[in-house]
Amino acid sequence: MARKASIRDLRAGRVQGQRVLVRVDFNVPLDPDRRITDDTRIRAALPTIQYLVDRGARVILLSHLGRPKGKPEAKYSLAPVAARLAELLTAPVRFLGTTDTADAVRATRNMAAGSVLLLENTRFLPGEESNDPALARTLAALGDVFVNDAFGAAHRAHASTEGVAHVLRPAVAGFLMEKELTYLGQALAEPRRPFIAILGGAKISGKIDVIAQLLPKVDGMLIGGAMASTFFRAMGLGIGTSLVEPDRVDMAKDLLATGGPRLTLPHDALVAPALDQPSRAHAVPRDQIPPTEAMYDIGPRTAESYGRAIATAKTVIWNGPMGVFETPPFDAGTLAVARAMAAATATGTTTIVGGGDSAAAVTQAGLEGQMSHVSTGGGASLEFLEGKTLPGVAALDDAS
Ligand code: ADP
Ligand code: MG
Repeated sequence: MARKASIRDLRAGRVQGQRVLVRVDFNVPLDPDRRITDDTRIRAALPTIQYLVDRGARVILLSHLGRPKGKPEAKYSLAPVAARLAELLTAPVRFLGTTDTADAVRATRNMAAGSVLLLENTRFLPGEESNDPALARTLAALGDVFVNDAFGAAHRAHASTEGVAHVLRPAVAGFLMEKELTYLGQALAEPRRPFIAILGGAKISGKIDVIAQLLPKVDGMLIGGAMASTFFRAMGLGIGTSLVEPDRVDMAKDLLATGGPRLTLPHDALVAPALDQPSRAHAVPRDQIPPTEAMYDIGPRTAESYGRAIATAKTVIWNGPMGVFETPPFDAGTLAVARAMAAATATGTTTIVGGGDSAAAVTQAGLEGQMSHVSTGGGASLEFLEGKTLPGVAALDDAS
């Protein structure tokens, strides 16, 4: 895919005093009192917002939050996000809690240069998720320029991500979007080698297209997570009560045949009779999983050898935890991979983490700053790695 234009490519006259409509991904987790429990996504959009503020733009922000169904629902209001954004920017952020788009257009016309306005949840608007062209035209009237910085929503063709970009031009990528596309795109197109992928998580079915897409490109693919047990079954090994997808065993067999020596399965497993009996966790070779126990993590030998593989790589892509990292000690394999990647980053390896739970694990370990790139878009990064076109990206202007 051609490189997409970014806000760097906008001439000053397109920014100074202009209404720049920015689609961000402020879909942050809230607790029952509507307090933000993780503001990573707000922070991730700051470079774009600050850049535009510094250049005298009138910055109008659009985002979705949660899954309201085309009408206002107080619990999905972006009001708490506006407050947090103001703290992070150390500047006022006006919040407009209306879904009356005529009101919103008027508000954008009354803004001072360098000021910031956050509009209410785009999913309060009927037509957002159906990508209604009439709504796209209405949204386009909110700005003079469109910037899409919502990588995490780019795999959805919605009115505020895709439709609006066809009406409001120029339509360019923000810094976060640009960074995501650069890291993920370069890893797929021209990785520095050795290039290894580490794949885990709960289900092989959700990752099958990623495996198929990456397998011919990588020098090695290391498997962990529950998907390992589906491969084990395909290899004829006993897996006890481990999570398995019986209808994917044939597919796993095909992948084993295609991947050959490039596809590495765990040598050992951390097993227990049940997840709520972590004190009974013990490591066994992969061909000795007891019939009444389940694999909840890769074993220590596997963690070590995956760490060694990471240390010799020049590019590492990781998607999906190695075990049930939410429940120690079954977080050991995931932590080992995260630490090995952090160490590799320090010696010049490009390290990329994609996937919501993998990113959460890295953040939990305090290592997100030690990776080259932690993708903010779980579903979007997965679809990108599957080789799919992201509609929110495709709709942007090509760089000239
Ligand atoms: P990501 O969001 O990074 O793409 P997934 O959503 O595919 O990752 O998978 C994450 C989930 O997989 C976690 O909730 C984790 O507990 C679960 N998981 C990993 N390994 C196992 C296992 N061996 N058995 C059961 N669940 C597992
Ligand atoms: Mg997940």
